[in-house]
Amino acid sequence: MTPDNALPPSLIDSLIEALGRDNVLTDPYDLDRYSGDALSPTRAFGAEASFDRLADVVARPGSTDDVRAVLRLANGSATPVIPFGAGTGVMGGTVPARGGIVLDLQRLDRVLAINPVDMTAEVEAGVVLENLHNALLPHGLMPGHDPYSVPIATVAGTISTNGVGYRAGAHGPMGDQVVALEVVLPDGRVMTTRAVPNQSSGPSLKHLFIGSEGVFGVITKATVRVFRLPESQVFEGVAFDTFDQGFNAAAEIFALGVRPTLVDLTEEDDGIMFHLVFEGFKEGVQANRDRAMSVCVQHGGRPAGPGPAATYWEHRHDSAVNYKASALGKPRSVRWSRWRGRRGFDYLHIGLPISKVLEYREQADQIMSQAGVRSVEYAIWSRPELFSMLIAPESGAPAESRERLGRTVEQVLQLAQDMGGVMEYCHGVGVKLNHLLEREMGVGQDVVRAIKQALDPNNIMNPGKLGL
Ligand SMILES: Cc1cc2nc3c(=O)[nH]c(=O)nc-3n(C[C@H](O)[C@H](O)[C@H](O)COP(=O)(O)OP(=O)(O)OC[C@H]3O[C@@H](n4cnc5c(N)ncnc54)[C@H](O)[C@@H]3O)c2cc1C
Repeated sequence: MTPDNALPPSLIDSLIEALGRDNVLTDPYDLDRYSGDALSPTRAFGAEASFDRLADVVARPGSTDDVRAVLRLANGSATPVIPFGAGTGVMGGTVPARGGIVLDLQRLDRVLAINPVDMTAEVEAGVVLENLHNALLPHGLMPGHDPYSVPIATVAGTISTNGVGYRAGAHGPMGDQVVALEVVLPDGRVMTTRAVPNQSSGPSLKHLFIGSEGVFGVITKATVRVFRLPESQVFEGVAFDTFDQGFNAAAEIFALGVRPTLVDLTEEDDGIMFHLVFEGFKEGVQANRDRAMSVCVQHGGRPAGPGPAATYWEHRHDSAVNYKASALGKPRSVRWSRWRGRRGFDYLHIGLPISKVLEYREQADQIMSQAGVRSVEYAIWSRPELFSMLIAPESGAPAESRERLGRTVEQVLQLAQDMGGVMEYCHGVGVKLNHLLEREMGVGQDVVRAIKQALDPNNIMNPGKLGL
């Protein structure tokens, strides 16, 4: 970029030459709607200034070669490039904090191969999860990653945030689905890894791009694991009197090696419900279900039948269907208006060793009650280590409440770090948590910086993210 931080004028012409006029957007309406994701400044406590810049231009490559061309042009002029999947992230990973080129990967939308022998699918970066799901169905297959955001999020976006979904109890997070990647490096070179699940021939470089929010390069293709459609699917709900009882049951289920597809223990004002879904071949489902239910009963659980979990499962994508209709691809004012007028809330997703979760909850409750903030929901999702809280100020004027909420969020996230955990387990760091990453990574952040410097000396890839 030039010293006054403006885009070199010839860059837009060069982008048009490389991609065609239709695939280079400069209209203020487009620049606005492509700037950022589902995070609004009201939930970006302390990082509001990141929203001051808009994208300078939106580039829409249609192939790996197009991505190479854009990165070469950007590298030559030290222009920031912000990879954009569908902009459904909730941490501001696609906020163009320093302006530059938003690289919309949605034209890379082909399912290239489905291989029922290898149990993999090869897809382009911008394939929406729902489209992958629909392409696999006729083959009797399904993806392993099933977040709320199936109807809206892309394969590479979910790899870059290492998202978690409803089937993670059995199949793990999105990162576990990745068999191989094709990545364009900041200088335009293309790196591919081999499509085998494991390697001992050198370090596994695909892992460098899992959960790294586009700071090292652009994922253009991915080979992901796929699974047979379940021969049997069983839903179970179990009510508990206390969260601790349900949590201890979940920990015991995992310690035994029982692996429900869905593990969701939720405490809300109206009670504590453990939602379980078991999938797979029928004898395995039966055995897993029977043992999990006897563990729950031993821990004081009261079986509530299949109804609650079946309803929960049926509605698992509703929030994303709603987001698609009301906010996806819309200007920032529309996306942000969803939160206007509220006193504020935050949804925290914390990872801790199993032995620390209940102690963490107690200490976080103390911090929150001193600040007049309370958790309206506590949950365990997919594994006992993954603990969520939906928190909100109890009272107060909107501006003051939000500020108090922001301070409390900071404190409870730091508490998780101090107890040996991580401040976020599925949504990434984005602009929202950028300032806290070094605190968590320690010397690891020096390693991240060294890799960044080696791969991207001009710091073009998504600057201002991942603590960089
Ligand atoms: C209603 C709703 C429900 C949600 N439910 C869940 C949920 O259940 N589980 C969950 O984990 N998340 C959930 N999310 C968050 C969001 O869907 C995920 O973070 C998702 O992983 C982002 O996908 P995306 O394609 O929109 O990526 P984007 O938001 O566009 O990008 C996310 C990050 O990845 C980078 N990136 C995108 N594409 C590439 C690429 N090709 N190469 C390199 N970097 C890239 C971006 O720069 C950014 O840093 C939800 C969001 C909404 C709005």
